[in-house]
Order: sequence, then structure tokens, then C-alpha cells
Amino acid sequence: MSDRLCTQSSATDVSLTTLLKSGKPFDCSSDKYAVEGPRVWVKLPFLADTLPAGIVEVQGDNNGLTTMQVHAQLDDGRILSSDFSKRQVAKHWRSKGSFGLPVPGTDNAALRDRIQTVYVAIDHPKVASSISLMQLASKERWDAMTLPLSIMFALLCGMAIMPLIYNIFFYAAMRYNFMLWHSVMISATVCYTFSSSGLIFLVFPEISLVTKMMLNYWTLAIGVGAGGFFLLRFVEPGKIAPWLQRLITVTALLPVLVTASVLRIDGGYNMDARNYYHASFLPVFFVVLYAMGHAARRGSRAIWFQIAGWTPIILFSLDRVARGLDLYIGWPILDYGLYFMLVLETIILALGVAHRILRLRQQHEQTLRHQAELTVLAETDGLTLLNNRRAFDREFERNQQEMRYSHLAIIDIDFFKRINDRYGHEIGDTVLRVVGSKLNETPYFAARIGGEEFTLLMQMQGSDGRKKYPANVVTDICQTLIQAVNDQVPEIRETVTFSVGIASISRRASLRSVMATADRRLYDAKRNGRNQIVWVDMSETRTEKPAGTASA
Ligand code: GH3
Ligand code: MG
Ligand code: MG
Repeated sequence: MSDRLCTQSSATDVSLTTLLKSGKPFDCSSDKYAVEGPRVWVKLPFLADTLPAGIVEVQGDNNGLTTMQVHAQLDDGRILSSDFSKRQVAKHWRSKGSFGLPVPGTDNAALRDRIQTVYVAIDHPKVASSISLMQLASKERWDAMTLPLSIMFALLCGMAIMPLIYNIFFYAAMRYNFMLWHSVMISATVCYTFSSSGLIFLVFPEISLVTKMMLNYWTLAIGVGAGGFFLLRFVEPGKIAPWLQRLITVTALLPVLVTASVLRIDGGYNMDARNYYHASFLPVFFVVLYAMGHAARRGSRAIWFQIAGWTPIILFSLDRVARGLDLYIGWPILDYGLYFMLVLETIILALGVAHRILRLRQQHEQTLRHQAELTVLAETDGLTLLNNRRAFDREFERNQQEMRYSHLAIIDIDFFKRINDRYGHEIGDTVLRVVGSKLNETPYFAARIGGEEFTLLMQMQGSDGRKKYPANVVTDICQTLIQAVNDQVPEIRETVTFSVGIASISRRASLRSVMATADRRLYDAKRNGRNQIVWVDMSETRTEKPAGTASA
């Protein structure tokens, strides 16, 4: 393909006639793009038979062009010329990211047949591809394609913007870092598509070719760089080894650093810039390729979204590089494929982000559940499954704000040591479990605060609004307990009874003072013969015995 082109350099004030007169030969060798400038001449044979009918135009990469001239040399040596200013070159954009300048004389059938050679002069070209990709094509055909291609690229940009909106929306709620990197990637992809497709000229007709080129280069470098950082944040922790994480960071930064140091806006004539630029993508390209296999081997699930999103891009990029290096001819239509793959990638990764958020949420909920379980365990008595001392203390403290309970009862099993001694600890444990399960069935907050000591926090305002009396309530409870132990632990021949001390809870009373009162009354109940409930201090001597029971 490139054999058709020959090149030569001159000063910017040299005209085609002067150049041809000088007799200096054009370079048609394989390294003909290593031109010095500042005015680069390109010579293309005009093979009328193989060219499409109608007006013919010269096309080529419009990155970093300035002024241009197009000349047609006829069979009699006559030269037809057109000059294009920077602005005019920009106005002649084509939707595949190239310029399309009409060859003079091709609008006239008689002249067209006599054109033999086309000469193009480019002043200060910034990239070699504006020369190496130069070719002749039908003006009508490309004019007709401007609208459909512009619509296609606009749709692609629109499709890529959707995940961006979705990202911004969700980032407001869930601040996962990788959503930001994904947004940077999408923004860069959209800007790159918008700019490199030429769509930018429709929206900003006055934008210069150099600005457009800088935008292309920067957005691609930032997009790829952000891709590396996205990978690091997106893949589950521990699925990429630390050394590989560092390598990804460094190689992802490389294209951005190279872009910053190599591409200067008015850096002038530097054909090597583009080579350094493209070479700077190779390390991150291979490192990411390796990292995808690495993370997949380590069992990452998130990485499969990257593999699905990035493999087509890598394949299309390889195709583009291979065609650029003339390894094979291929179809230029594949250039558009890359844009589709870029957009497809943003959508696949958006699904990946949704999936990852879901997983993180699930993990978060699992952790919360686990924490709740541990808290329950920390506040539960292992033998009776009642609340333990710690839970009781906390509930009492909470009550001092809410005042849900008006009374505290301490219930102590009478002569429990004797039960252990007579029937063994196993039976003693069974008694504790039966008492625990019965207390748990009461509407009050029950806890086991010691060996055979239990507490109840009680509200004496019934659900029907009627006031209940703690001594009556506790009497009923004790009867239930006595009955339950009697029924469920038949090994014990004697009746197991209970002594109870009750204290009321006033708003500012401390746990210690309320406990001390209840304890003192419990002690009074014991001293007074057990199997009784005391709810006032003994000087007033108010006790109650659960009916129908006998003291042991
Ligand atoms: P009093 O009527 O004065 O309360 O006499 P008591 O024997 O019930 O009281 P004391 O405090 O002398 O003894 C309590 C006994 O409870 C001593 C201990 O062996 C027993 N105990 C404490 N925790 C457990 C337990 O988890 N399982 C069993 N089986 N016994 C326990
Ligand atoms: Mg005791
Ligand atoms: Mg006891």
C-alpha cells in the first residue's frame, strides 16, 4: 500500500514548480516517512482507471496538520493547484478522523482524464500518519457518509454516557473508589470518540486541528491510565499480588507521563512524538493482559468483566497496529469496530460495577449479621440462653432514659446447693434451664446474673392500661416456676422454691442502689424462712408466700 507514496522535504517558501525544477528526487524507500520538513511533499500516482468516478479527494490523518496544498499535474506538465489554510483543512474533516481535500481538476471530466500525478504539500506535519495513511478517495461517497457516520458516533457517545450518569447517581449513595475511576474511563472514552471521529467539528466548528489532536492523545492516555487504576480498585482485595499492583500503577501512569513530556501544543515539528506516544501504551497493555490471567487464576470473579470488556479492544487494537505496520491489508471498516468495542466495554464494565456493588453489599450485610450474632452471644447466658449480666446492665442503663420498667425483682433458688449435693450438678443444671425458659416466657426482661440468681425488669402498667402489683405478678411467676420444675425435673422429690426481693426503679436511681435494695429484700426473704417475696423493707414486714406451696 505504502509503495504508492513518495516523499520529499523543503523550506516552506518553495513552490512545486521550483521543487520539480531542482530535480531533487523523491524518496520512495521504506523509511520515506523520516522526513525533515518543514514543508513535506507527498507524491501520489493518479491512476484514473482504478479511482472512483466523480471528484477525487486526498485523505489522510488530520491530526496536527497546519496549511496544505494539493496539486494535480497533467500529462502536458501543467499544474493545477489548490491552497488550504489551517481553517480550511479543519473544515474538510471526514468522520473517520481524517482530512479530505479535493484534487483540483477532478470536477472536470476532460481534465480529470489527463491528471497523472498528485502532489500534496503539508507544512509542519506533527504526525507521520498524516502522510503514511494518505490515499485518494471519492468525495461524493464520503460526503454522503458524513451524516450517517456522525449519527452513529453520536449514538455511540450517548450509549457510553449512560453508564456515566448511572455511576454518578450511585456514587452519591455508595462511595466506592472504583466508580470514580470508571467515570474517568468513560469520560475519556466519550471525549476520545467525540474528538477523533470528527464529531467535535459539528459542535465546535472553530476548534483547531492541533487542539483536536491534543484532545485525542490526552483522552486516550487518560482513559488507558484510568483503566489501570480502575483494575486495581475493582478487583477483589488480595486477587492481585502487591508487586503486580505496583507494576500496574507505574505502567498505567506511563502513557500520561509520556503524553505530558512528548506532546507539546506548539512543540513544532516532531514526527517521533507519535512513536514514543504509542510505545508508551505497550507496557500497560502487556501488564494488564498478564494481570487478567493472574487475577482469574487467583479466583477473582470481578476480573471476568474486565476480560470480557477488554479482550475485544485488545484484539481490535492489535489488528489496527498490524495494519498500520502493513503486516496485512485487512478491512479499514474495522477502525469503526474499535469504537463499538470501546462503548461495549463501558457497558460491560458498568454491569461489572453493578455486580461488584451487589457483592460488596452482600459482604457488608454478612459482616453485620455476624457482628449481631457475636453481640447476642456476648450477651447471652450459655446454660439457660437467657440474657446475661452484661445484657441486664445495658438494659437497665437504657431504661434510665426510656423508663420502660418500673420494678426490678431478684429471684434466687432456695437451697440450690443442696439440690446439687443430693441429685448432682446435671440435675441442678436442668433446674436452671427450666427456670430460664419459664422466665423467658414472661413479658418481662429476664436475665441470669449469677449461679442460681435471676432478675426481672418489669413494667407494671398492663397492656390494658390497668396497673398491676409487682408482688402479685411475681407470685404468679414463682408458682409457674415451682410447677415447671416439679413437672420437668421429676428426679427431685422435694419442692424447689424461690425467694424474691423487689425494688421500684425511680428515674434517677443508679443500678447499684436499686440492686442493693432488691438484694437487701431478698436477704430478708431468706432470713425470714425463704419461699417468699419481699417488696418493702423488713421494718414494715410485708412479705408474700406463693399460695399452695410449702417451705422446704
Ligand atoms: P440459699 O437458699 O441461701 O440461696 O442457698 P443456696 O444453696 O441456694 O445458695 P448458695 O449461694 O449457698 O449456693 C448456690 C449454689 O449454686 C452453689 C453452686 O454450686 C450452685 N451453682 C452455681 N452455678 C451453678 C450452675 O451453673 N449449675 C449448677 N448445677 N449449680 C450451680
Ligand atoms: Mg444465691
Ligand atoms: Mg440460692
